Amino acid sequence: MYDVIIVGAGAAGMTAAIYTCRKKLKTAIISIDIGGQTNLTSHIENYPGTGAMHGIELMRKFQYEAAGFGAEFIMGKVIKVDKIDNSFKVTLANGEAYDCKALILAYGKVPKSLGIEGEEKFMGRGVSTCVTCDAPLYKNRDVAVIGGGNSAVEGALELATIAKKVYIIHRRDAFRADEITVEKLKENQNIELVLNSVPIKVIGDKNVDGIEVENINTKERKEFNVDGIFIEIGYIVDTSFVQHLVKVNEKKEIIVDDKCNTSHPGIFACGDITPVLYKQTVIAAGEGSKAALECYRWLTGGKGAVLDWTH
Ligand SMILES: Cc1cc2nc3c(=O)[nH]c(=O)nc-3n(C[C@H](O)[C@H](O)[C@H](O)COP(=O)(O)OP(=O)(O)OC[C@H]3O[C@@H](n4cnc5c(N)ncnc54)[C@H](O)[C@@H]3O)c2cc1C
Repeated sequence: MYDVIIVGAGAAGMTAAIYTCRKKLKTAIISIDIGGQTNLTSHIENYPGTGAMHGIELMRKFQYEAAGFGAEFIMGKVIKVDKIDNSFKVTLANGEAYDCKALILAYGKVPKSLGIEGEEKFMGRGVSTCVTCDAPLYKNRDVAVIGGGNSAVEGALELATIAKKVYIIHRRDAFRADEITVEKLKENQNIELVLNSVPIKVIGDKNVDGIEVENINTKERKEFNVDGIFIEIGYIVDTSFVQHLVKVNEKKEIIVDDKCNTSHPGIFACGDITPVLYKQTVIAAGEGSKAALECYRWLTGGKGAVLDWTH
């Protein structure tokens, strides 16, 4: 039985773990990956006190600190949370289950999927949702990027420095990304724009061999031979496995009060999974510390943490 299980090892979850461990709470942090969305930033300049660095490097520092204070990291995807008597049971996709007295939900956002044939089959074997993480695998190879926002356009530009050829496939005739970035995209000789087009199918046997695309105006279908496909169409909040316990808003974000309490006693939430404004790494970290201190206060019957040092 853990005192606290934290779901998600992004900035919010790992900061929460540092705080709960320093309060000597037996803490497990369960996550699909270490670092979350911050890993996707190749140059994070607005996290104070560290200087500019790769997001992965910053998140490694969070991990070492949390582990150093005693947090146990368990890798896996949480698919179910149940309230059983006075505790919670957290079940993972691989069937493992862990019990805890309190729960901190810090699992941020997940990349949106296309929902097309072959996407799930080839995820991690040619289909990726993270240019920064996987671009180096495609040196001198052909790749496609799906999307039209900043992440897709910046992703295509980053890939163009490594890959031989980059197709950027976008459903509209213009990009939503910043004008200056779109200009760079249009000028880049390695990048071909495939506009008014939607992906239909990922083609491949053991690995990705290509992508089939349909022009939404002419309905003409065309295959592009690529080794890698990067899906950059934004993120969603997946609260499906906790909605029977906590209240969510119309965007499916978990509603919290100013101390990160959810609508369910003993369940706290922090970071991008909540409606917190200006979703940033430093804000997620700050919210993580709040959730942890409030969790400690709850576990100690309101006696634990000092709410305001000036009183
Ligand atoms: C491309 C990009 C660039 C950005 N650049 C900046 C920047 O320069 N500066 C800045 O301050 N912010 C930046 N941000 C925003 C910042 O990264 C986020 O606000 C921050 O990462 C939120 O942290 P979080 O811990 O709440 O969630 P996340 O970072 O989303 O972490 C959530 C964690 O939960 C895990 N998880 C998800 N679902 C489950 C599940 N079911 N079971 C177990 N684990 C799960 C994930 O694997 C992940 O580890 C950027 C975001 C993106 C996408």
